[in-house]
Amino acid sequence: MDLGLVDKVVVVTGGSKGIGEGIVRSFLAEGALVANVNRSEGEGRALEAEYADRGQECHFIQADLCDAGACATAVQAALDRFGRIDAVVNNAGVNDGVDLEAGPEEFVKSLERNLVHVYAVTHYALDALRASRGSVVNIGSKVAETGQGGTSGYAASKGGLNGLTREWALDLAADGIRVNTVIPAEVWTPLYENWLNTMPNPSEMRAGIEQLIPLEHRFTTKEEIADTVVFLTSPRSSHTTGQIIYVDGGYTHFDRKYR
Ligand code: NAP
Repeated sequence: MDLGLVDKVVVVTGGSKGIGEGIVRSFLAEGALVANVNRSEGEGRALEAEYADRGQECHFIQADLCDAGACATAVQAALDRFGRIDAVVNNAGVNDGVDLEAGPEEFVKSLERNLVHVYAVTHYALDALRASRGSVVNIGSKVAETGQGGTSGYAASKGGLNGLTREWALDLAADGIRVNTVIPAEVWTPLYENWLNTMPNPSEMRAGIEQLIPLEHRFTTKEEIADTVVFLTSPRSSHTTGQIIYVDGGYTHFDRKYR
């Protein structure tokens, strides 16, 4: 299937590691031009160099997205480089364990890590998206629907993101801009591994989680998330908007008892 993404410009937040890296690589495989906005520099610069060697653009933009000013600068940097934006993928986020005990200041910081930059990046990219009749894909979490315990800020952020998906799909329909969200549940990434390593017996817990995933009892791969994201931004999904799509091996919605 030709996804029609050759030379389309995609801004991916948090594209240096984990799911974001998978998304960046899937877009590049389709011939898109990528602006990767990430806080740490090492992996992003390495990706940029790797694809430059192949004659492809994976332009690295350093920014801590918790700063709304940095979100504006990052979007401008993408425009300076490419002159247009066809899609924004709001992927950056962290399950930071800010619970009900942590207090309002920590809660607001968690919203800044997980939700406010989604608004800010999309806001600053809006004129460019209107010009291209582009699309937005957000990366949510099953936690918005299932809860997890001990992570109020993250749960509220990802719930807010689902709300914005519906809200923006309506707001932007007249501009021909589509907005969708992809929900991972259990994807093996640096973030996931770090979280699991805080548990008393990580390998036993990993095996237990795998047993709860109905389809093939395994973690979803970052490539499986990425391919759905790429499809949703492409003209091949031209009448899909406001959707919250679970790429999770059936984890969130099916009976998760051992089979
Ligand atoms: P990850 O492995 O930690 O990668 C996240 C990337 O985003 C890192 O490169 C990180 O940069 C970057 N990033 C995070 N906050 C940033 C900020 N404020 N400014 C700039 N860059 C920032 O995480 P992941 O597991 O791939 O998660 C990606 C998304 O999927 C997140 O939104 C997460 O909530 C969601 N998700 C993941 C899972 C899962 O199973 N892994 C499940 C549900 C939802 P640094 O290198 O600077 O840290």
